[in-house]
Amino acid sequence: MMPLYLDYNATAPVDPRVFDAMRPYFLEEVGNAGSWTHTYGKRAKDAAETAREQVATLLGAKSEEILFTSGATESNNLVLLGLARHGDASGRKHVLATAIEHKSVLEPLDRLREAGFEVELLPVNAGGYVEPQVVQDRLRSDSLLVSVMHANNETGILQPVLEIGEILATTKTLFHVDAAQTFGKEVEALRQLRCDFLSISAHKIYGPKGMGALFARRKGVQRRPLTPLMFGGGQEMGWRPGTLPVPLAVGLGVAAELAGREFQQRREVCRHVKERLLRDLDAVEHAINGDAGRAQAHVVNISFPGIDSEALMMAVREELAISNGAACTSASYSRSHVLKAMGLPEERIASAVRISWGPGVTAIPAGPILTAVRSMRG
Ligand code: PMP
Repeated sequence: MMPLYLDYNATAPVDPRVFDAMRPYFLEEVGNAGSWTHTYGKRAKDAAETAREQVATLLGAKSEEILFTSGATESNNLVLLGLARHGDASGRKHVLATAIEHKSVLEPLDRLREAGFEVELLPVNAGGYVEPQVVQDRLRSDSLLVSVMHANNETGILQPVLEIGEILATTKTLFHVDAAQTFGKEVEALRQLRCDFLSISAHKIYGPKGMGALFARRKGVQRRPLTPLMFGGGQEMGWRPGTLPVPLAVGLGVAAELAGREFQQRREVCRHVKERLLRDLDAVEHAINGDAGRAQAHVVNISFPGIDSEALMMAVREELAISNGAACTSASYSRSHVLKAMGLPEERIASAVRISWGPGVTAIPAGPILTAVRSMRG
């Protein structure tokens, strides 16, 4: 028996309806979306354009504003590094981001720093979010970009991106939002959001791994000030060359369409599961990390005082697959930069685990955790 999978923030299973939609594009619809002089290519291109439209519709955007990428990592890199030349040319070399961003934002920011940009990482409060006033206070006339994730992947805490978008709307500073954890989930907020760039990932919403998109707002006919990171066939309007993975694009499109129809119901299922789980976990001493009122419905970051998170994950691993942080960093056993930025004490960070799920999970048995915690506490 495999343990119950509770690491949906790392990646989620593909929805069978998404898989069914992708299947013919692996096996029968063999065309290259760039070769539409013949029927095969034309059909591939049409399928990709339908997917682009599906992604755009979920955001309330135009399909010309969507570029396909390999995922949110690439989208984040394309924005942050792709704006460098514009920053150089315009003399705007100040960049703001929060201290709790994903590594796919923090590491490109290191490259910008090496290239002479002044990068400031904004603090978050104990609730796990950046206060809009902090952004307002640090904003300068030479600020090129502000980059803030919509929801943190470790805590599920939603960031005040709507308020930050309003602050930036009256300035020349560009606004990028890493929405890897919220696209298809916090649909209402994303439709209202005022930003210039938004990173999207397919595999968090039951689409395929290795697929994503970048929303890049168009203002009239003005070209976005992005320089591509790769060069080749000119696909995706020159911003992201390479043969489009049509089956994956179809998967992203269908996943977005399904999310648009089902997000409220999915969120309700997840919320019930959380309420029940937290009630059950009340039987042992614990502390929730981050402001529970701002957390997404399908994730909880929780510390059990005196218990080492590694030991807890090992103790429950036959029954529950849980994590103690971001997938990309969990192998390196480094303490969470997110919880650290929230000012949590070392001991609480060392005992934090992340449990994340989706609508297919209708109940999470707390028993294995309760048993492990009690036996470790002796
Ligand atoms: N940003 C955040 C907030 C994420 O949670 C993730 C995925 N863990 C990414 C970016 C990277 O997304 P992808 O796997 O699509 O590259």
